[in-house]
Amino acid sequence: MNIEKYYEIKNSLPAPVQLIAVSKFKPAEDIQTLYNEGQRAFGENKAQEMKAKHEILPKDIQWHFIGHLQTNKIKYIAPYVTMIHSIDSAELLSEVNKYALKNDRVIPCLLQFHIAAEETKFGFDLRECEEMLNSADFQNWKNVHICGVMGMGTFTEDMDQVRREFQHLHQIFDTLKQKYFADDADFKELSMGMTDDYPIAVEEGSTFIRIGSAIFGARNYNVPVND
Ligand SMILES: *Cc1c(COP(=O)(O)O)cnc(C)c1O
Repeated sequence: MNIEKYYEIKNSLPAPVQLIAVSKFKPAEDIQTLYNEGQRAFGENKAQEMKAKHEILPKDIQWHFIGHLQTNKIKYIAPYVTMIHSIDSAELLSEVNKYALKNDRVIPCLLQFHIAAEETKFGFDLRECEEMLNSADFQNWKNVHICGVMGMGTFTEDMDQVRREFQHLHQIFDTLKQKYFADDADFKELSMGMTDDYPIAVEEGSTFIRIGSAIFGARNYNVPVND
């Protein structure tokens, strides 16, 4: 846990950029420590892990879901999640809408785009996404609110490539804003940038950076998580 680094990053951010502390694989005590420093926005990528932490931690924590979400896990986060960054299909958005309705709330969501060179990263491409936005179904999903886009850069040393990917995501944001969300002031979020590439993301217009290891230290993936 590196509180000094936390403040260094936080104090380097221009006003519109929010820091999400990515606490996946880290114990609740680490979240509480950062909470005590004033941090409220935390990111998790496993639904059951988020649920378990939500139950024991302060209720004013803002929980951002940033991982691939399976439809059968939505129920673990729907009652309280602040924002889902990782909507990557029409089917998922439709299911999130269903659970939001059940919980009598509107869930803010971001559309995740595949901008990296790697095959493994989830996300829409623009054509697929526009198909959804143009559909009659989409108009009827009143319990989800689309607030912007999210993406992950390629895991590479080549920062020029990562910058081009972030620029691409910004273009996608501008296109969707102009065509579908021009009158919606809430469509304003660009979730991009992690420990290794957040300074570039900020330069390219990010509004949410998602920082894990720089703050909490390297993750130990061998610790079993209940998900
Ligand atoms: C784990 C994760 C992060 C944080 O990664 P770090 O490199 O540790 O900062 C950000 N975004 C997503 C989607 C993640 O899964």
